[in-house]
Amino acid sequence: MYKIPSLPTNKTKPQAIAILTSGGDSPGMNPAIRGVVRAALHKGIKVYGINKGYSGLIIGDMVEMDSASVTNIVQRGGTLLKSDRCLAFKDPTVRHQAALVLKEKNIDALVVIGGDGSLTGAHLLTQENNIKVIGLPGTIDNDIYGTDDTIGFDTAVNTALDAIDKIRDTALSHESLFLVEVMGRNSGFIATHVGIACGAEMVVVPEYEIKPETICFQLANNRLLGKGASGIIVVAEGQTPGLTTHLANVLAQHKLEAKVCILGHIQRGGSPSGHDRVLASCLGSTAVNYLCAGYNDVMIGVRDNAITETPLKDIIEKNKKLDDTFFELALLLHK
Ligand code: ATP
Repeated sequence: MYKIPSLPTNKTKPQAIAILTSGGDSPGMNPAIRGVVRAALHKGIKVYGINKGYSGLIIGDMVEMDSASVTNIVQRGGTLLKSDRCLAFKDPTVRHQAALVLKEKNIDALVVIGGDGSLTGAHLLTQENNIKVIGLPGTIDNDIYGTDDTIGFDTAVNTALDAIDKIRDTALSHESLFLVEVMGRNSGFIATHVGIACGAEMVVVPEYEIKPETICFQLANNRLLGKGASGIIVVAEGQTPGLTTHLANVLAQHKLEAKVCILGHIQRGGSPSGHDRVLASCLGSTAVNYLCAGYNDVMIGVRDNAITETPLKDIIEKNKKLDDTFFELALLLHK
């Protein structure tokens, strides 16, 4: 349960808002869209759904939404509005064009659901043009400053766990070692959570260097403790493609044979978990309250179980760090 702020509706309540999803899709974007649409309609605000993120915005590809537009989507993965990566939006003249599209339709504010790249685009749009923006953290990576949780993270962790529990059966039957790669180019949030929850023998994340010798030592120690020869090592994908295969090759040089399993995009899809549905619904509907209270240029997230706002500027400038103690816990539990 989240503590939802009670916000005043100020006199400049928007008449019409638009909503888009951008960057990598994440499970829970649909309930977030539904939350925005239903809360806005409840307040008598028109809502336009923009197709394909910023790519759709700059060409005015949008439709007015009603309550029925978001029927039967709360349980669906992906995003009803589709998503895209639109490099052109990095150009200020293109963002100006996007603002004109919104103004022509008398749209006062834009709700952007996406990762830190998408939120950067939203921040620049409002800074350069007289359009209000509110961001929602929609990414499986949970790597956004200003929020403890992001829409899709819980589902992605559970999807990875479901797969790893199955891999564990094979690992035990064949007494083999698996390196399971999960998503996380710059951050080890997914890997660390998954590692703790699946009882991984080791977790490898971009934030900390783990030497192959440490992995070999850990697995040799497991055998001495009578834990058998099988094992799961969870590896965050990191920035270099092929990192997990490379690690398997390095371990082979240390006479430790490991099979590689890359979970990949399976982690992005699927029905959002109950947790993500509730989170997304609360963030989506509260975003409308923030707009009605006159807020602009903020992301609505969750801190200490309370829905709260953070300036988009801070989200862009500051990094969310994986907690040292939390990561150490992931390693300690398997000794
Ligand atoms: P995820 O990392 O979860 O996939 P994201 O939102 O960080 O999500 P990006 O590909 O980084 O994904 O960004 C999505 C889109 O946001 C970009 O394609 C672009 O349209 C816009 N965007 C990203 N960075 C900027 C920027 N610096 N200036 C303007 N727009 C940006």
